[in-house]
Amino acid sequence: MTDHPGPLRRERAPVKRRIWQDGAMATVAVIGLGGMGSRMAGRLLDVGHDLVVWNRTPQRASDLVARGAVAADSPAEAARRAELVITMLADPAALQEVVEGPQGILAGADASTTLAEMSTVGPPAVRRLAAMLPEGVGLLDAPVLGSVSEAESGSLRIFVGGPEQLAQRWMPVLGALGSPMHVGPLGAGAAAKLVANSTLFGVLAVLGEALALADGLGLPRDTAFEVLSATPVGSQADRRRPAVESGQFPLRFALSLALKDADLVVSAAESVGVDLPVAAAARQWVASAQEAGLGDRDYSAVIAHITDAARSA
Ligand code: NAP
Repeated sequence: MTDHPGPLRRERAPVKRRIWQDGAMATVAVIGLGGMGSRMAGRLLDVGHDLVVWNRTPQRASDLVARGAVAADSPAEAARRAELVITMLADPAALQEVVEGPQGILAGADASTTLAEMSTVGPPAVRRLAAMLPEGVGLLDAPVLGSVSEAESGSLRIFVGGPEQLAQRWMPVLGALGSPMHVGPLGAGAAAKLVANSTLFGVLAVLGEALALADGLGLPRDTAFEVLSATPVGSQADRRRPAVESGQFPLRFALSLALKDADLVVSAAESVGVDLPVAAAARQWVASAQEAGLGDRDYSAVIAHITDAARSA
């Protein structure tokens, strides 16, 4: 075994291939250690699974390696070492690169591997994945609802699509990350996630527009928030109030990723001939916030973008 100095110990842990049973610990690979993936990986370590990690920017793996994870040199190596491979990547292009690229997951997965795709990528990306994977590789689409604090505490909602038996086999591992719910065949998880997210952007746009209207009509912000508190968007108004009042929107979910999701919602609806003018309008607000340079901010900054736009009109 070679022990390299430096933050990443790339020592070779024995490859663990074993019949995994309910309740036993598994070897799990997490590919994609951004805001969400790093915390989900941490949870898997906390509950005792053997963890293999890979990230495009290797430095982001160092804390997990210090806690006992093994850093793989490539997605292929991560797939070779693990029974369950979780991908938690930005978007469909990132997923495609990590799966199909040189030394991608395709080069390492075999009939003893299950891939759980947990990013938000929409049903077409899941279909493409299914078509690319070699015969016998298990596939679940299992995107999540909840953000970094839920990822950290293991309280995500997880929408699982895929064959019933395969989904049930991996429920105990997914259960360490939150509450998995089997929602149907492959692609159903991705569909469920888009349904959930279609509400998120609409609610923020409604909230931003209500505040813009209050500003325009001369209602003080305090009063506006008190009024909104008693409406169907009351819980969101209460939750977003401190950020709107302070102008600080702590980064949990990047606005650029929210725009990706809003695009996925609109294109998924178009692909099945469902007309969603409200979703399209909410998407337009997120897109104009991105154009205004807010892509790196938390997506809730779209509220301030809407009120600012109204003020400067
Ligand atoms: P993030 O912090 O931006 O992390 C993105 C991850 O994707 C990083 O590991 C990044 O690697 C990797 N990546 C991006 N492009 C890549 C490429 N071309 N090749 C390889 N790796 C690439 O995003 P996140 O907030 O963790 O979100 C991850 C997924 O979960 C997204 O699909 C998002 O929509 C979804 N999601 C997020 C939240 C949330 O609240 N944040 C909630 C639910 C679902 P580098 O480190 O090298 O950049």
